[in-house]
Amino acid sequence: MITLASISEKVHAGERITDEEALFLFESRDLIAVGELAAAVNRRRNGDRVFFNVNRHINHTNICVNRCSFCAFYRTADQPGAYLYDLEEIRNRATEAHAQGATEIHIVGGLHPDLPFDFYLEMLRTVKEVSPDLHVKAFTAVEIEYLSKLAGLSVAGTLAALQEAGLGSLPGGGAEIFAPAVRNRLCPEKISGERWLAVMEEVHGAGLKSNATMLFGHIESHADRVDHMHRLRELQDRTGGFQVFIPLAFQKENNPLGHLKRPGPGGVDALKTLAVARIYLDNFANIKAYWVMLGLKTAQVALSFGVNDLDGTVVEEKIGHDAGAATPQTMGRDDIVALIRKAGRVPVERDTLYNELRVY
Ligand code: SF4
Repeated sequence: MITLASISEKVHAGERITDEEALFLFESRDLIAVGELAAAVNRRRNGDRVFFNVNRHINHTNICVNRCSFCAFYRTADQPGAYLYDLEEIRNRATEAHAQGATEIHIVGGLHPDLPFDFYLEMLRTVKEVSPDLHVKAFTAVEIEYLSKLAGLSVAGTLAALQEAGLGSLPGGGAEIFAPAVRNRLCPEKISGERWLAVMEEVHGAGLKSNATMLFGHIESHADRVDHMHRLRELQDRTGGFQVFIPLAFQKENNPLGHLKRPGPGGVDALKTLAVARIYLDNFANIKAYWVMLGLKTAQVALSFGVNDLDGTVVEEKIGHDAGAATPQTMGRDDIVALIRKAGRVPVERDTLYNELRVY
C-alpha cells in the first residue's frame, strides 16, 4: 500500500518514485509533509543555494496564426493591439539590457504568418552584435517546428542555421499539457505533445540545452500532470538536455478558458505541484518558481517546497501579464537577492547554462 511514509523511505534512499506514488502525493492533504520531502530532496542536491539570473524578455510579436484557448497574448494582424518589433527595436532592448548587466536575452513570440525565416536569423544576429557575451535563449519547440516549415528545412537544419546566427539555448514553453484529450481542448492548432518532445530530442541532439514547462491549474487532472512529468522524465533519461522544470500557473484573464471561470491554481495547489515535481523529477537538476505567474510571495514560499531557482529580472513580460498576472514587469537584482535572503537562503546569480557567476 502506498503511504507518505513508504514514499518518504524511498526518496530518502535515493530511489525513484512511481507515477502512482506521484499521484498519491498530489492527492495527499498533508501539504507540509509533501513540502518537507521535496525540501529534503532539494537540500541534498542544491544545499541552501537559490539561483536567479539577470535577463530580459523580448516578445518580438503577438501576431500568431494559432488561437490557443488559454492565451491572452495573441492577435491577428488586423486586430487592435497587434504589434511586431523591427530589428532596431530588438537592438534597443538588447542594448538597454546589456547596459543593465543582463547576461541573457529570452525571445519568444507568436507564430507570425508573414515573416521570412531570415528575420529570425537577423534577430539573433542583432542581439549578438550588441554583445557576443549576451546568451540568446529563444524559440519554443512550437516555434522551431513552425520555423522549420517556413525555412523548408528539417528541424536539425533549422537549428543549425539558428545556432550559426547566435542561438544559445531554448526556453521550455509550448509544452502546456501533453495529454491529448486536454491538449485538444487547450490548443488544438498547436503541435502535439509527442511532437514537442520529438523536437526537444532533436534540440538536445544538436548539443543545445533547453528548459521544460507545464501549464497547470486549468482543466487538467492530477493524472494529466503526472503523465506530463512522466514523458519529460523519460526524455531526460535519454538526453539529459533539460536544465530546469518550470510549472507555469494558469492565468485566468482575457482568454476563452478564463470565461469558463477557471480560477487558476491556488497557493496550496501551486506549492504542491512544485514539491511533487521536485520529488518525481529525480533527473532534473533544477525546479523553478516562475514568479511572474506564481506571484512573488508564493514564489518565495516555494523556496521551502523544493524550489531552487527563481528565474530572473525579466524586465518586460507580456504573455503572462496579458492574461492577468498581477506581478510587476520587472524585479531588480537587489530585489531578488533580498527576496531569497529573507527566505533564509543563499542567492546565487547564474548564467543561462547554470554556471555560477556570483554568490551573494
Ligand atoms: S500560446 Fe503561443 S501559439 Fe498559442 S496563440 Fe498564444 S502565442 Fe500563439
